[in-house]
Amino acid sequence: MSTYKVSARKYRPQKFSDVSSQEFVTQTLKNAILTKKIAHSYLLSGPRGVGKTTIARIYAKALNCPNSKDGEPCNNCDSCTEITSGVHPDVFELDAASNRGIDDVRAIQDAAKFFPIKGKYKFFIVDEVHMLTQQAFNALLKILEEPPAYLIFILATTNPEKIPATIVSRCQRFPLQRIKIAEIINSIKQIAKEEKIKIDNDSLFLIAKLGDGALRDAQGIFDLSVSFCGEDIRYKELKNFLNIPDKEIYFRISGYIREGNAKEILNYFNELNDHGFDLQTFFNGVTEHFRDLMIVNSTGKTDLLDESDSIKEKYSDEAKLFSADQISRLMKILFEAENRFKYSSNQKILLEAILVELSRVNTEVLDLSDILSDLKAVKKKSLTEHSATSEKKAPSGIDLKSNDHEADFKEEEVKLTTNPPESNIVSEGKTDKPENSSDIISKLKELFDTEEYKFN
Ligand SMILES: [Zn+2]
Repeated sequence: MSTYKVSARKYRPQKFSDVSSQEFVTQTLKNAILTKKIAHSYLLSGPRGVGKTTIARIYAKALNCPNSKDGEPCNNCDSCTEITSGVHPDVFELDAASNRGIDDVRAIQDAAKFFPIKGKYKFFIVDEVHMLTQQAFNALLKILEEPPAYLIFILATTNPEKIPATIVSRCQRFPLQRIKIAEIINSIKQIAKEEKIKIDNDSLFLIAKLGDGALRDAQGIFDLSVSFCGEDIRYKELKNFLNIPDKEIYFRISGYIREGNAKEILNYFNELNDHGFDLQTFFNGVTEHFRDLMIVNSTGKTDLLDESDSIKEKYSDEAKLFSADQISRLMKILFEAENRFKYSSNQKILLEAILVELSRVNTEVLDLSDILSDLKAVKKKSLTEHSATSEKKAPSGIDLKSNDHEADFKEEEVKLTTNPPESNIVSEGKTDKPENSSDIISKLKELFDTEEYKFN
């Protein structure tokens, strides 16, 4: 393993045709070369690790290469090899994250005054250009307003919205896409083959997925995996090394939710917590799990899941066990909890509360008309009692403070009965549903937080 080199560097694409997922950009740039319609400034935007500076370099190579063919560089001539190794005298790369001031742009201004030494064009590739100061942008704008014929700027950024409109309007703009998971997998597979490293499909998926749309990140994870697993990367080992929670955890959680088993869900969660399971990872994992179930449940297909075939099959089975309505309610709970969770000072307790809420989703299947009719009955009963005594405890043990709102109530009653529910009217403080009044009341408290519906 001692000869192993970092993949991202070693396998950086050297031709447009080797670049993954950015066909629109690479094709347009190739056409520009072929039709000799060369702009003076380009703006490549997109998430990190999707190939912005790689494309910039290939473009510089292709334009300065004497043997360029079909808009691609030859990668053999002096010019190409010098650009590849970063020593070409006419190609400058600047990282605006660390060179963001006016002096840095003045240096560019000075360098821009001179004709290219070797090639036809002189290139300035400015990465993370949004980091420049306002003064530096002003200086840059001056060059972009009247660039010499040989000068080409390629600006790259992850945050195009932070670049002044005056600069943006002078550039040809290319938004780059996140790289598709299948393409990352292919790329990693290819590297593994070249490096004679065995890797199973689940590991490929895992690495590609962790790359999160960035090939460079996925390659970095692959390198790390090789350094840990050696020449034979197996999912089980890799997963432990990367400290990746097993999907099995989430299937178990959704199993408990289906059963409405709050007790077991809490036991299991605490067990995971005792083993040092990261709470944010857990929360994200649960959310992603139900998002995947939602997709399979609503499309009936697993194509949209970024998972291996064996996992997809499990999702296909699990999705059948939930109704669309249940899944959407679970997602609603998770989305509503998301912000609270992020800023909570006690994430563990909050997570426990969320899990209990999730585990109730299967039992709380009363639809709104059921709930309203239950409320109506409870209220009616309380009003009847109210006429006897001024205040009395409801049989469920809940104090129903019956204010003098009989008129209001009657008005509500009219509204409620416009869509008359079935005959599940409460007779003795009990419904024919599994829920007790306190469940219904707490639910209604959320639904109608109005004076008429205030319970003490
Ligand atoms: Zn060449």
